[in-house]
Amino acid sequence: MKVISKVLKIETKKKIELIDITSDVDSFVKESNVKNGYCLIFAPHATAAIIANENERGLINDIIRKIKEEFPQEYNWEHDRIDDNAYAHLASSFIGSSKVFPIIDGKLIRGTWQNIFLVELDGPRFIRNVVLQIIGE
Ligand code: ZN
Repeated sequence: MKVISKVLKIETKKKIELIDITSDVDSFVKESNVKNGYCLIFAPHATAAIIANENERGLINDIIRKIKEEFPQEYNWEHDRIDDNAYAHLASSFIGSSKVFPIIDGKLIRGTWQNIFLVELDGPRFIRNVVLQIIGE
């Protein structure tokens, strides 16, 4: 069994933004030469998240709109007394900071409309890390 890791370094440009990292993940799976196993995609950040969904401009805007509706920036959050980004911590907590996909016959298994996105919730940031780790054989 092999365990292989890689860290993607991603620059974000907006306060709230979805960045499609599917091709980076697919390339890593290919490079790994693992035929059967799992691939973890993990954002080691308290104000970012990982999702899997369709890369369609309207839907991306809808997701951002929903995040803003569910986690308003102006809401008298207690954490805002410290650093003014409580909404981003909340969104990250509820959306989640990781996903795991199966690898079967050397391919990452995901739905046709399941691209993988890093969700920036408190950007812009010069570097956001996304840790990829494959376990398999
Ligand atoms: Zn904070």
